[in-house]
Amino acid sequence: MKKFEKPIMVTQSFLPPIEEYKEQIDRIWENNWVTNQGPIHKEFNKCITKYLKVNNSTLFVNGHLALDVAIKALNLKGEVITTPFTFASTTHAIKMNGVKPVFCDINVEDYTIDVSKIERLITKETSAIIPVHVFGTPCDVEGLQKIAEKYKLKIIYDAAHIFGVEVNGVGIGNFGDVSMFSLHATKVFNSIEGGVLTYNNLDYKRQFDLLKNFGITDPETVEAVGLNAKMNEFQAAMGLVNLRYIDEEINKRKKVVKKYRECLKDIQGITYLKDKIGIRHNYAYFPILVDEIEYGKTRNDLFKKLKEHNVFARKYFYPLVNEYDCYKNDYNVEDTPVAKYVGDRVLTLPMYGSLELDKVENICEIIKQFSK
Ligand SMILES: *Cc1c(COP(=O)(O)O)cnc(C)c1O
Repeated sequence: MKKFEKPIMVTQSFLPPIEEYKEQIDRIWENNWVTNQGPIHKEFNKCITKYLKVNNSTLFVNGHLALDVAIKALNLKGEVITTPFTFASTTHAIKMNGVKPVFCDINVEDYTIDVSKIERLITKETSAIIPVHVFGTPCDVEGLQKIAEKYKLKIIYDAAHIFGVEVNGVGIGNFGDVSMFSLHATKVFNSIEGGVLTYNNLDYKRQFDLLKNFGITDPETVEAVGLNAKMNEFQAAMGLVNLRYIDEEINKRKKVVKKYRECLKDIQGITYLKDKIGIRHNYAYFPILVDEIEYGKTRNDLFKKLKEHNVFARKYFYPLVNEYDCYKNDYNVEDTPVAKYVGDRVLTLPMYGSLELDKVENICEIIKQFSK
């Protein structure tokens, strides 16, 4: 296989036809309203609530601050159970709110929290569970709900990866107390940067709106200690236009995934996730696991090999959060052996709707030839 002429990155941000974006930007000039819950923000909020099939949603400048606000609004204290197989954001948001992250292991089937290992981690300090719908695969939402009810714990889902996913026709944002979706440029659906909280309890709405705007109630009243996490009109405009294309984008990604699966299925030591019955998937990522013994090379070897061919895969999530410099002294990675196993073997391959299928074939060919 020869090297790709142009680099193939692990993802490529979706951009809509520029004319459609310009039309929305013209509205900003007409309204002279740039941020602070403008008309485009309102319209986008309505459309995204409908698309996600949820009852309520609140928009934010990014996903991380949305999660931060959710933790504040639900007044989480003490300890929160989460997993180390995630992006820095999840754990940082917990930690920065003065709450202790407690790491539960993941399951080897889909890398989400292993529900059978949660109960032993619950103490009288535990206030919530913050599970992650990793790579767009839903957690065991029913199992989690049972535990939450039994121990009276809140659940905030890190739903950053799972935009547009449905379980038996139900929008994934309906589960738990709150879900946080990220609308960052690298995600399946973007509003340049952005975040959404979805929730069933309408009482949360007021608190979210307050906290994302400095706790200001009216010009002469500041009722809460808040921050600035508002989505602006330029972001909302991008989101509004991109919503027109999200189904098409997911369909294209589905074809890319199908091609990857076809081309990789006979390579010894390379495994990948399968679709689940009853789930509408979003094909956010294409992670593979590299088994050194069967494949004959390590994940790191393959990562380098791909790079030599101008293919930029990503070791995601690696390192685990409990291996980060800022956390490793407080945790033992041996406590989450499955996460360790997966983190050391996982590689996410280039994945985006406009990735040509012949390129996918070539990427797989590089992987195949390297194994011999
Ligand atoms: C992207 C991401 C976030 C943070 O979202 P931003 O919009 O980038 O702030 C949080 N958690 C996970 C798992 C993510 O992938």
